[in-house]
Amino acid sequence: MDLSYAQMLENAQRNEVVLRRFQAIELALIGASGFGQFLAGIRDQLPARMALEQAWLLLADSHGEVSAILGYDEVLPDGLLLEREPARLVERLGELPTRVRLGSPGEVLGELALDWAEVPGSVALMPLWRDSTLIGLVVLGSRDPERFAPDQATDFIERFTAVTALCLDNVLNRERLKQLGLTDPLTGLYNRRYFDQRIDEELARARRHGAPISCLFLDADHFKRINDTHGHVAGDIVLRTLANRMRGQLRGCDVAARYGGEEFAVLLPQTALGQARLVADRIRTQIGGEPVVLPDGRRVPLTVSIGVSTCGNQLADSPMQLLARADAALYRAKAAGRNCIMSVDSGAQA
Ligand code: GH3
Ligand code: MG
Ligand code: MG
Repeated sequence: MDLSYAQMLENAQRNEVVLRRFQAIELALIGASGFGQFLAGIRDQLPARMALEQAWLLLADSHGEVSAILGYDEVLPDGLLLEREPARLVERLGELPTRVRLGSPGEVLGELALDWAEVPGSVALMPLWRDSTLIGLVVLGSRDPERFAPDQATDFIERFTAVTALCLDNVLNRERLKQLGLTDPLTGLYNRRYFDQRIDEELARARRHGAPISCLFLDADHFKRINDTHGHVAGDIVLRTLANRMRGQLRGCDVAARYGGEEFAVLLPQTALGQARLVADRIRTQIGGEPVVLPDGRRVPLTVSIGVSTCGNQLADSPMQLLARADAALYRAKAAGRNCIMSVDSGAQA
């Protein structure tokens, strides 16, 4: 087909416009400082700038690593899907796409189910590869059945897909680093740095709402003996078990951290002294209830002492005071013979 000069010019101009729109979104994705911004780029900016009805991001999340670093449990933000068994993508899509696919939802997505607000007339499937791993998919939906036709050129969208994959990988790595800087590698609990930050925020929130907040300070009893008797590696296993048993007694809104070697701190928002003592005692009983069984079958008895403090009616306490009172209560629990809890209420004598 011969194209007139005017038609060629029109095509070139149209390409220029499309390219610029893609570049604007690329800049937003490259500049995303966290996953939330990246997702907003895909879910909100892409449809808005490209006149599409909807865009989805599906992440391959084997072993739940992605949900862990992003901090998602069951509830996901709009526009995001996680596939926890990436092998199932092969079943649903027929095979893993290596290039962009365009066409009707049935042709392109096979059995892959997306919760469309409105089933699109045509879709584009953008596979996001890093090295030889498919890390995710972006699916674009248009009401117009002609918008994404199988025989259409895909140069721009292929390029955009490659940039998107790179940005996603970067943003996930950045989230991974953030998470690493805030958690304790041995137990998976938060570290002291994070706890010290959160206690400021939680206390300020409690003050705003006039709600009580409690703090537990927990220390393993005679832990040095455990190390001396069974070795440091066994000691590490015992610490991990302790953390898991403690975690099992806490709510999602509680903040548990490894504060130092064999010391742990827990913040219990919206919790008055009586309730905090109950939680502390549940933790103590759970940890001390059964010996820790080492891989070689040795059984290690373990107990903990816990100090409890509360900011109740007088919310004038600073984070340091709340923590210091829990620490003082812990000291008394140790002095009282260990494997017990002691508490101090706000303003009360220790
Ligand atoms: P108490 O009941 O008074 O708390 O006695 P304790 O022996 O627990 O207290 P002490 O402070 O004397 O000893 C704490 C021990 O915890 C010493 C230290 O080597 C050990 N520890 C600290 N961090 C770790 C760790 O990451 N792994 C292991 N295996 N041991 C640790
Ligand atoms: Mg100790
Ligand atoms: Mg200690």
